[in-house]
Amino acid sequence: MVDPPMSQIRELIAPVRVEPGSSVHLPEDFDPGYKAGFLNKREGKELLKRGVELLTEYQARLAAQNTYGLLVVLQALDAGGKDGTIKHVMSGVNPQGVTVHSFKVPSSTELSHDYLWRYTQCAPSRGQIGIFNRSHYEEVLVVRVHPQNLDRQRLPASAKGDGVWHRRYREINDWERYLSDNGFRIVKLLLNISKEEQRLRFMKRLDRPDKNWKFSPADITERRYFDDYQRAFSDMLCHTSTAWAPWYVIPADHKWFARICAAAVVVNALVELDPRYPQVSKSARRELAQARMALEAESPGD
Ligand code: AMP
Ligand code: MG
Repeated sequence: MVDPPMSQIRELIAPVRVEPGSSVHLPEDFDPGYKAGFLNKREGKELLKRGVELLTEYQARLAAQNTYGLLVVLQALDAGGKDGTIKHVMSGVNPQGVTVHSFKVPSSTELSHDYLWRYTQCAPSRGQIGIFNRSHYEEVLVVRVHPQNLDRQRLPASAKGDGVWHRRYREINDWERYLSDNGFRIVKLLLNISKEEQRLRFMKRLDRPDKNWKFSPADITERRYFDDYQRAFSDMLCHTSTAWAPWYVIPADHKWFARICAAAVVVNALVELDPRYPQVSKSARRELAQARMALEAESPGD
């Protein structure tokens, strides 16, 4: 068993949680460059290590109990650090217990269904941690910033119009509540980077041959909509941070800090779920004892 540094974890995540019903304006309300004052980089690395150990322990219990599931939703702008966060935070978990789904521009099959369809297909099963690298929130982010995406969804006139985003917030909240009522905990992380940090990361992708593959010319076009995304993020945070699935705005200009913070939120959710190894019944214990005797009887001796 690992000794849980839970008080430190709770202290770390309290300021990045979006209280349900609160009003949020990015970028003013959450500083992308924030680093908790009580932690330097070296202490942070140690805490991340402890967090990853805890995750390993709790994931094993989650899988063994096979009753609850955990859905981790990751949203960010390009170069926000989604891939690196997944890699580092999940470094200790058993790959059999984790699924990762990345959501891209929807296919024609996906566009032939209701907009939540493709996400429901990929939700984790009981005992599993499911990670959404981009998620159903794209439906109120990229689709809102570029309304031609909404046109491609072939919606009836009654499902479009002015109220569409508020209706989607309600539908998303309802879906998440349904999942949560049925044993699936949802953790939502917005990796919040500044425009300047995004510029520096794009430059790195252009300068370093081993990072060239990560760069897409579309990233530059999309960057022009930076402020529109901040508005869409803010409205999303105001309306979809709920008691059953709150948002956490992770300061992401410092990668080391973003990873600690993301790990802390995930660990905290698992600790609150408190999955337990199943108890073996008396009769099952008798069977175990008999099995042991049978195996001992087969010993070749010396
Ligand atoms: P990446 O994550 O960098 O591989 O890029 C995936 C691309 O798919 C991003 O540009 C997203 O904006 C886009 N995308 C994801 N979900 C949707 C969606 N529901 N509608 C339109 N575009 C999407
Ligand atoms: Mg990209």
